[in-house]
Amino acid sequence: MFKPFRTAAVLGAGVMGTQIAAHLANAGLTVHLLDLPAQAGDKNALVEASFKKALKLSPPIFFTAKVAHRVILGNFDDHFDRLATVDWVIEAVVEKLDVKQQLMERLEAVVREDTIVSTNTSGLPIHAIVQGRSESFRQRFLGTHFFNPPRYLRLLELIPTADTDPQVLERLRWFGQLHLGKGVVVAKDTPNFISNRIGTYAILLGLKAWTEMGYTIEEIDTLTGTLVGRPKSATFRTADLVGLDTLLYVIKNLYPAIPHDESRELFRVPPVLEKLVTTGTLGAKSGQGFYKKQSGELLSLNLETLAYEPAKPMALGAIEALSKLPLKERLCALYQDTGRAGTLFRQMTLDLLSYSAHRLPEIADSPVAIDRAMRWGFGWELGPFELWDALGFETVLADMKAADMSVPSRVETMHHNGATSFYWHEHHVYEPGQHYVPMEMPTDEIDLLALKANPTHTLWQNSEAALLDLGDGVVLYEFRSKGNTLSLKVVEGLAEVLDLLETQPFKGLVIGNDSAHFSGGANLAEIGMMAQSGNFDAIADLIVQFQAILQRIRYAPKPIVAAIQGRALGGGCELVMACPHVVAAAETYIGLVELGVGLIPGAGGIMRTVARVSERTASLSSSQIQPFLQSAFETIATAKVSSSAYEAQEMGYLPCDTRILMNGDRRLFAAKAEVLHLDRLGYTPPPEQTAIMVLGRPARAVLEHMAYVFEQGGFASAYDRYLATELAYVMTGGDLTAPALVHEDYLLQLEREHFLPLLSQPKTQERIAHMLKTKKPLRN
Ligand code: NAD
Repeated sequence: MFKPFRTAAVLGAGVMGTQIAAHLANAGLTVHLLDLPAQAGDKNALVEASFKKALKLSPPIFFTAKVAHRVILGNFDDHFDRLATVDWVIEAVVEKLDVKQQLMERLEAVVREDTIVSTNTSGLPIHAIVQGRSESFRQRFLGTHFFNPPRYLRLLELIPTADTDPQVLERLRWFGQLHLGKGVVVAKDTPNFISNRIGTYAILLGLKAWTEMGYTIEEIDTLTGTLVGRPKSATFRTADLVGLDTLLYVIKNLYPAIPHDESRELFRVPPVLEKLVTTGTLGAKSGQGFYKKQSGELLSLNLETLAYEPAKPMALGAIEALSKLPLKERLCALYQDTGRAGTLFRQMTLDLLSYSAHRLPEIADSPVAIDRAMRWGFGWELGPFELWDALGFETVLADMKAADMSVPSRVETMHHNGATSFYWHEHHVYEPGQHYVPMEMPTDEIDLLALKANPTHTLWQNSEAALLDLGDGVVLYEFRSKGNTLSLKVVEGLAEVLDLLETQPFKGLVIGNDSAHFSGGANLAEIGMMAQSGNFDAIADLIVQFQAILQRIRYAPKPIVAAIQGRALGGGCELVMACPHVVAAAETYIGLVELGVGLIPGAGGIMRTVARVSERTASLSSSQIQPFLQSAFETIATAKVSSSAYEAQEMGYLPCDTRILMNGDRRLFAAKAEVLHLDRLGYTPPPEQTAIMVLGRPARAVLEHMAYVFEQGGFASAYDRYLATELAYVMTGGDLTAPALVHEDYLLQLEREHFLPLLSQPKTQERIAHMLKTKKPLRN
């Protein structure tokens, strides 16, 4: 219905401008990035320096190095006329109203009549920025508030003014979701919009607990971090990351802007924050904030002395055990806790929930917008109203009254009308005066949770996997093992499901799930245990079986599509490589990481890598294949993981025809559509690989030399080098004196022969044990 933007301009190449430009380029746009001209010398010097700095950011802002070429640098003096050519202009200059207003005036004289203009301001009133501009310009103007880092943080707040054309808002909502992969929330033009208003309040609650309630920084971060479904950075580390000066600035702006806010006093600048900022303690960017890392130890501020001290033992009672419970049970248990932990958690929760409810309809009309904004912008697992439901609507309400807290009339009315939660059933939310109404849900996503609520959709299951009916003859194989590992049960299940695919009238199969990560690879705990108890025959059988299943997937008579996202590692990567068709979220981090745990890929990963290497070359001559082989060898030998699906294509992990989606939540929907499409065309499985070119001993010598250089350069241990030589042996086809064409089964057998003995090596077992214990690789 809408035209996608093809070209854009970002004004201001600071922290946000460069990263927004990068993300638009990731989405395929050509982007002009302009900044102030340098005072002396080359006028592009400022923008170039900022861009250079941004290229070094980690995690990377571009999907691949090549994408950076879509950004064209310029300055406001010489290149302002370029803005006449673009579809969308995003202003991301310094947070000063007069500067932004003047820029808008200049812009109006240059841009086309249909160009959309938006601002990334996080605190200025959107309507004020276009004061004095024509009606036509104001109709094409709105706030597009990206969160830092824009590539990785899901939330995009869209803030229309009273003048914004609804079609402009809809176009941006559509583009933001589909092309930029954002979670879009439409916010009102109120101070700090939704996410930062509630988020700042939550941080100030933490600060208050520290300054007035006698809790330590570590205690507060424990009670506002992963334990309660929020990011690890919790309260104080988040403040350090945002910057204490930025936080101070936001609070100072908010206080005068919210005269009617019933909790306004909390936004009075805490003296300690002001003091820290005036002494240059700005958080991560100045090397110290509430925390400071010193000689590898994390110290935190003492409130009285403002000196950094090692963490004191926490006095929160026995809350360790809670962390094992599922989130909702954990939250309820903590809420009911009668000790110091429960007291603070209850107090902060009641304050937060009351504050959020009071913001309806001031900052949003529906609780859904606030919940989504907090999940997508601050990484909370549950938004305030979801949290309220989890703790029990009536329990929380009664506790608020018992604590003499002000309860918004909207909530009182809800209660009076007999509502017992904000959300009801699948995707219904309480709306004042209307009771429960259906929520607006995307039509191009498959909601597995809702699908599974109906038991007839589960066609088969064991304890760690299931086959679900996606409708229209398409079925989904879903892993349910911990970390979506390829456990014995998952592998057994795959075999059963392939039988069903062949015998039942299904059109095709999707392999995927709705977790953050596709698969963590083989179940190391199972394999490690079998190896330690010397049960190598069972492992050998398992490898044979797994290889055979992956071959069945590849050559299945009906289409099989992998729908992947997040991490797909080791065996998970090999499974994806076996699938003839792949739909991938742009944010896919895939790789053969087996060397990190003292192994080499053993389920077709090497065979398929070698096959893809020769597919990429113009001819099968050794000289053409060799450089590609070296690069593939280096990738596997160093257990490199892609930083995006596009990079995974460059690395050879994903096929060139992978359908890559900016909005990863659409992957199951797209994979189902892919199955139906392939079925309709008349599906043909790929041909068997009867002639894969392997280069034999001469190439192996080169790869072994590379392994030697890694070791000599200090990049690899002696054992890494040993593993790399094993890898080199298999990648070059074993003991062949010259290049030869081999059948894929030949390489699969080589993989097995060289994989198994590694499991009995003490250093491999140490690596596996270390990975299981610390989740980090050991370089022994
Ligand atoms: P920044 O200070 O990193 O960059 C500001 C840019 O504005 C610089 O490139 C600077 O050269 C340019 N500039 C300075 N004075 C100017 C002038 N007189 N005319 C034109 N350009 C000028 O700031 P930032 O953090 O990138 O923030 C940019 C915008 O994004 C602000 O409106 C801010 O509120 C908003 N924002 C920031 C964040 C964040 O986390 N930093 C998050 C969301 C929104």
